[in-house]
Amino acid sequence: MRKRPSLELLGTEIKPGKGGRVMLEVAKLHTNTPIQIPVIIQHARKKGPTLLLLAGLHGDEINGTEVVRRMIKKGWNKPNHGTVICIPVFNIFGFLNHSREFPDGRDLNRSFPGTKNGSLASQFAYIFMKEIAPLVDVVIDYHTGAAQRHNYPQTRCDFRDDATKELCEVFNAPYILDSKLITKSIRHAVSKIGKQYILFEGGKSNRIDNFIVDEAIAGTKRVMTHLGIRYFEELPEQSGRVIRDSRWLRASSSGMLNLRIENGQFVEKGTILATIADPYGKFERSVKAPFEGYIFNVNEMPLVNKGDALFHLGR
Ligand SMILES: [Zn+2]
Repeated sequence: MRKRPSLELLGTEIKPGKGGRVMLEVAKLHTNTPIQIPVIIQHARKKGPTLLLLAGLHGDEINGTEVVRRMIKKGWNKPNHGTVICIPVFNIFGFLNHSREFPDGRDLNRSFPGTKNGSLASQFAYIFMKEIAPLVDVVIDYHTGAAQRHNYPQTRCDFRDDATKELCEVFNAPYILDSKLITKSIRHAVSKIGKQYILFEGGKSNRIDNFIVDEAIAGTKRVMTHLGIRYFEELPEQSGRVIRDSRWLRASSSGMLNLRIENGQFVEKGTILATIADPYGKFERSVKAPFEGYIFNVNEMPLVNKGDALFHLGR
């Protein structure tokens, strides 16, 4: 059998059966401190697909970083076949500042495919598309909900893309959502160059939630086993629910929100999901489910304004 070639990334050679760490250098801080993004690579002796585990595209979505960190710490990123590339923190500016965006307020996930001399976010996107994306077959990108919106573990893909939907089914998060590609997102950019991309959403920003981390890791292991990259035994069985249609339920008045259900739960039509009350004991109103379905996102902020999104209900 012919020997598998080394992997070349940013001028570094990773030999078959070896691992390495290279730095993606994009920019400097105003202190002249270089900003480097560590990229951790494991390259098996035997050939197979290349999987990218990507987190921290939004700098405050720490939960995903914990997922990738744990995969590395446990050595689960070491493939028997193929290659695994890990980027635990992509938007390092946001990570430093506990913020989703770049210092100029730009969203990296609306800056793809990027340009060489564009905004900082655009330069990040550009270097990723130039150096990393071409090497990869499958991307798993870990995200969370916003500050007060807790996402039940879910993957999202465009159901018209059969191959990606199949991978989401293999990942087998509790919910799979139909979601169209958004222009200038990383998902759009990598899908366009023929790569497969799994978007994982779970938990909320600035928080590590072990239930979510465990779900994300279990899904990642299922995908790695399916792709033949590494075989994992004893993966907990579950049947992910496919959500074809969903609606955000919004607050009909301003007040204090008191939740009556758990995220991830099935609810009948008319179930009281929460109450909204004024602080002075004058009124208390119920928020009811308009149809039966599954709650997969809950607003955990106890003070809400009329029109705020409270629950995401799917069927
Ligand atoms: Zn995100």
